Amino acid sequence: ASEAEEHDVVVIGGGPGGYVAAIKAAQEGLKTACVEKRGSLGGTCLNVGCIPSKSLLNNSHIYHQILHDVKNLGDVKLNLTQMMNAKEQSVSGLTKGIEYLFKKNGVDYVKGTGTITSEHEIKVGPLDGGGPQTLRAKNIIIATGSEATPFPGLEIDEKRIVTSTGAIALTQVPEKMVVIGGGIIGLEMGSVWSRLGSDVTVVEYLGAIGGPGMDAEMAKTMQRILQKQGMKFKLNTKVMGGDVGSDNIKINVESAKGGKSESIDADVVLVAIGRRPYTTGLGLENVGIEVDERGRIVIDQEYRTKIPHIRVIGDVTFGAMLAHKAEEEGIAAVEYIKKGYGHVNYRAIPSVMYTHPEAAWVGQTEQEVKATGEAYNIGSFPFSANSRAKTNLDTEGMVKFITDKETDRILGIHIIGPNAGEMIAEGVLAMEYGASSEDIGRTSHAHPTLSEAFKEAAMAAFSKPIHA
Ligand code: FAD
Ligand code: NAD
Repeated sequence: ASEAEEHDVVVIGGGPGGYVAAIKAAQEGLKTACVEKRGSLGGTCLNVGCIPSKSLLNNSHIYHQILHDVKNLGDVKLNLTQMMNAKEQSVSGLTKGIEYLFKKNGVDYVKGTGTITSEHEIKVGPLDGGGPQTLRAKNIIIATGSEATPFPGLEIDEKRIVTSTGAIALTQVPEKMVVIGGGIIGLEMGSVWSRLGSDVTVVEYLGAIGGPGMDAEMAKTMQRILQKQGMKFKLNTKVMGGDVGSDNIKINVESAKGGKSESIDADVVLVAIGRRPYTTGLGLENVGIEVDERGRIVIDQEYRTKIPHIRVIGDVTFGAMLAHKAEEEGIAAVEYIKKGYGHVNYRAIPSVMYTHPEAAWVGQTEQEVKATGEAYNIGSFPFSANSRAKTNLDTEGMVKFITDKETDRILGIHIIGPNAGEMIAEGVLAMEYGASSEDIGRTSHAHPTLSEAFKEAAMAAFSKPIHA
């Protein structure tokens, strides 16, 4: 073992939470190392999550659009190998970009698995198989992320029974795909393969798609749109198990309310029933750090475990499993270390589902607002009445504002529509500033843009829209 090296901050995990924390810490003048065992930086998000899935979503959308939406523009043939190459190029460009940022900011990138051996020490088992290295740290930030939750009885081989990791790397378009779980991964990856020609059936235990936190009206609208695109849905349906034969898989399902059972044929099964915190090999037991019943590392408001200089951010602890949430926490945790204060506004974290059209939202859903018993207004505006959406022949979806009836303050914004993921940024900013719908309705939005639908939905909440 080499001589222990002393750092102000050692970050374990180089995903969006960890790499952002490491760069921020170095920018604050703290001597910082980031330990990552994957062999490349960027974590789940850049390597097997956000980035590769968006590459496939973008290219499969272009393919599908030319083939089905815009008639007579030309013919296209799928080159799946090329689509996968484009994905790999995006991933490697971005992960190497983070290595560059580490160098530029003076972060020590330590390749290997980090195990906390005592309150100030991390042993790193290097990737190249050499002897372990020991890092000493005044502060430790744990950002080890999450992994796919397995489905009992269906063994993942990442070829025929896949998680999202296998689903972004299939070498041919499956004829029939069953997706277990109608959350964000199921709908995004289901969309990709459906657009490329698979017969996709999504089996969801609950009565609505979209996973936790989606507005019920929006979830219904999205389901209708995806059905029109060819995806099939079995809601309120329990997967009982599967029979994996040499050339066919049978997924056995039953109504969640009991009774009726059937089996669905598949070539590929995507298990997308959620993700769980990942702490294997981290050595939490060596220092007595606790996890809750769902495996999340327990922390206080300042991201501290019961050992105050060991902090935790991102998917491995509480809250939404989103890259931008992990990043905000990375910054805040470092600010706590350096300055003693930091802040993340959890009421203004956007969610985006990158289907086509996209779904995006921030703040409370209508069902949540209703449950509070407070009086509220709804203002909505359909893209079918927006000039740019009509020009683009892309009119599915709508913008919906939920506001406090008395004060007009915005409580939630929900969008289904082209570019919803970009458009929601205005809503997030509005909520950060405590805006009312009238603030937005009286703000000039360029014509002809999709964002006029955003303005008109705001107008509908406090007055009336012009174009509907
Ligand atoms: P991770 O990104 O999981 O990074 C943790 C890193 O720690 C990993 O690289 C791991 O190798 C490393 N590690 C773990 N243990 C150790 C150890 N002991 N020593 C050293 N290294 C270790 N979110 C979005 O906001 N937008 C999206 O569009 C989006 N798309 C997604 C698509 C898919 C298919 C998936 C699976 C996820 C997607 N997510 C998306 C979620 C997003 O990827 C996560 O929320 C985000 O990556 C969490 O960041 P993190 O830093 O907490 O953890
Ligand atoms: P999820 O929690 O979004 O959805 C899982 C779905 O599976 C839920 O609707 C749930 O009711 C259903 N389910 C659970 N058990 C089931 C069972 N036995 N049978 C049938 N259905 C079942 O989880 P996910 O889609 O796996 O995504 C994991 C995480 O990754 C999420 O936190 C998500 O936010 C994140 N992610 C985000 C993005 C994005 O921001 N665009 C993209 C992909 C993933």
